[in-house]
Amino acid sequence: MGNITFTMIKPEAVASGNTGAIFSKIEEAGFRIVALKKIHLSAERAGEFYEVHKERPFYGELVDYMSESPIVAAILEKDNAVLDFRTLIGATNPEDALEGTIRKEFATSLAMNAIHGSDSDENANIEAEFHFSANERF
Ligand code: UDP
Ligand code: MG
Repeated sequence: MGNITFTMIKPEAVASGNTGAIFSKIEEAGFRIVALKKIHLSAERAGEFYEVHKERPFYGELVDYMSESPIVAAILEKDNAVLDFRTLIGATNPEDALEGTIRKEFATSLAMNAIHGSDSDENANIEAEFHFSANERF
């Protein structure tokens, strides 16, 4: 099991002032912040990040949403980081997210679901490298 995962607090959660509350939950759950920054993704960068979903019907909407205003990106460290973080954030659709999960508390819809979490160790490394250089990690 790998020990890092990658996350983004999504635009609507940043804009509504929930970044700090969400990071409190993340740190309380035992994740250590390795890297952290606030950035405004261009549509091109958002599209590249979500390239895997290019053929899905929601891709255009997802790219518009993720590039509409700033996000907060982070690399997080913990044993079994990828799976434990997916458990902490909850199901993609907040209607299916369990009580106590970040999406249950902060997501507003299936599209605007507050937070991203990597789905595999391989993608965690790819996504971390997409957003952070080696000298931004501590
Ligand atoms: N999404 C959407 N409609 C869908 C499925 C996904 O708008 O039917 C958005 C949602 O913001 C989700 C993102 O696309 O978080 C990526 O989808 P994925 O299936 O990878 O979900 P995740 O890994 O984020 O839970
Ligand atoms: Mg995913």
